[in-house]
Amino acid sequence: MARSTPPPLRCVTIDVEEYFHIEAAFGTVKREQWNNWPSRVERNVDLLLALFERRKQHGTFFILGDVAKRNPAVARRIADAGHEVASHGTGHDRLHRLNPETFRDDLLTSKKLLEDQTGRPVIGYRAPTFSVMPQTAWAIDVLIDSGFAYDASVFPVYHPMYGVPEAPDRPFFISAKPGGATLLEVPPLTWSMKRRKMAVAGGGYFRLLPLWFMKRGLRQADSQSRPAILYFHPWEFDPEMPRMPLKFTGRLRTYTGLASAEARLEGIMSQPARWTPIAESLGELRAMARGVGTFSLTGGDSASNKCTYPAPSQTPS
Ligand SMILES: [Zn+2]
Repeated sequence: MARSTPPPLRCVTIDVEEYFHIEAAFGTVKREQWNNWPSRVERNVDLLLALFERRKQHGTFFILGDVAKRNPAVARRIADAGHEVASHGTGHDRLHRLNPETFRDDLLTSKKLLEDQTGRPVIGYRAPTFSVMPQTAWAIDVLIDSGFAYDASVFPVYHPMYGVPEAPDRPFFISAKPGGATLLEVPPLTWSMKRRKMAVAGGGYFRLLPLWFMKRGLRQADSQSRPAILYFHPWEFDPEMPRMPLKFTGRLRTYTGLASAEARLEGIMSQPARWTPIAESLGELRAMARGVGTFSLTGGDSASNKCTYPAPSQTPS
């Protein structure tokens, strides 16, 4: 597979939601109270669109259906600026709180809304809090049946709330069970150290850790010809958003590093790379996934999962 090395493939993805949609606010700010909190999403999306414009780059925006309903101009503005519009579901429920029927409804509501608003097909999905896991493996078949071309919801790390640590750290095909239908999976960037993969792709990891964590992860991904999928939320760039009565860890994860986030992201986006929306690189991502194989979320063990990517401990860092 020796070939001259093209610039690394990278994608900035934005999960477009309001600050009160976050999982840390679940149960504290109830759904029926969402209307009581001022909307900040348009201001923050505009800030991000201006940043992409300055860098002359495009990304993938996973837009929440609830945002599209309340702010009907947002998806169109994002699409008109040349970015990919994809789905973040509608109600921002972790998939653990849904079942195949309610998930299908949540998914198709957002897909139809976004397609109607932009006039373009929606083919990508990211679950709230990366909640595609063995317990919610049924989501894969619902995504395939609903016409999605890829999923970006499996975080190959250990975390108490999410994560499939044994999943590959690069694009792969995913199935709910061995022999099941497969879908392209595009995981967020991780940095492998010895046998562990560390999350360095964005969100709280981006704001709480020194920036060199993400930079080391990017450098390692480049050296292994892995694409780097990064993720951010509009509220992460909004130091003035109203403060919710969150628990201590929620406050720490949500309100740290907001003032410097824009400059930090601009610094990352200034690195030379092929920064493109996921949908624009689907052919290349599928080709990479073919070299990795199929990973089954359930009923698989290392023998029945046919992934052939090198284990983290065997790869250079
Ligand atoms: Zn979200």
